[in-house]
Amino acid sequence: MSLDIHIVPILSDNYVYLARDSESGKVLCVDPGEAAPVLAKAEDLGWEIDTILITHHHGDHVAGVKTLKAATGATVIGPGGDSQEIPGLDQSVADGDTFAFGSETFRVMGVYGHTAGHVTFFAEGDKALFSGDALFSVGCGRFFEGTAADMWPGLLKLRELPDATRVYCGHEYTATNVAFAASIDGQNAELRRYAEIVAVLRSEGMPTIPANLGLEKKINPFLRADDPAFAEMHGFKGQEGVAFLAHIRAGKDSF
Ligand code: ZN
Ligand code: FE
Repeated sequence: MSLDIHIVPILSDNYVYLARDSESGKVLCVDPGEAAPVLAKAEDLGWEIDTILITHHHGDHVAGVKTLKAATGATVIGPGGDSQEIPGLDQSVADGDTFAFGSETFRVMGVYGHTAGHVTFFAEGDKALFSGDALFSVGCGRFFEGTAADMWPGLLKLRELPDATRVYCGHEYTATNVAFAASIDGQNAELRRYAEIVAVLRSEGMPTIPANLGLEKKINPFLRADDPAFAEMHGFKGQEGVAFLAHIRAGKDSF
């Protein structure tokens, strides 16, 4: 059970993912905000796309679906419960669902707040999480359609996943996320070490993705909103969790 995952950069800072199940040879694509670069990459690899996974309805994640579906006949799987319909949706999924993809099993995990029905996809065998705009490296998505109270239970669920989980998120936001995190968590030695790695990768034009969830648990401030010492440091003694998460998000929004 393993996935061979390739990153397809599109637009200004979005990532689409192409993943091939090594046993069945089936290929999926995650959040095609454009079709042409994805089709070109699949052709380079000699891969035929069977399945399209969608995390949420925003255009930079779905605008390529119709063209890609027409070109490949792929099945589109996404959240039936998002606030706007996913184009071309064939199979509606929701939090707690699982589905097979070749030898791999995906678990659907709802993480709400960026959009009302945003889902993430966890490959249980390969331990890869396609997190869309719910969780970024050292960040989380803006609360466009919800609040910290909506987002926090989802982040807690993601935090339960194994440390070895590789996080494949929807955008290359890591450098700015690290700068913000350093501004509120400057004494975090592992964050400082990661900041150096990110700076080198970005200076070479390399993606910082996938992120490692075990490290994210230690350096991503949004995953640490219930850390009592961290909350107290920012005047949120006894208000760790939702209230402190809202404070961190507001800080990032105006960073
Ligand atoms: Zn989005
Ligand atoms: Fe996005």
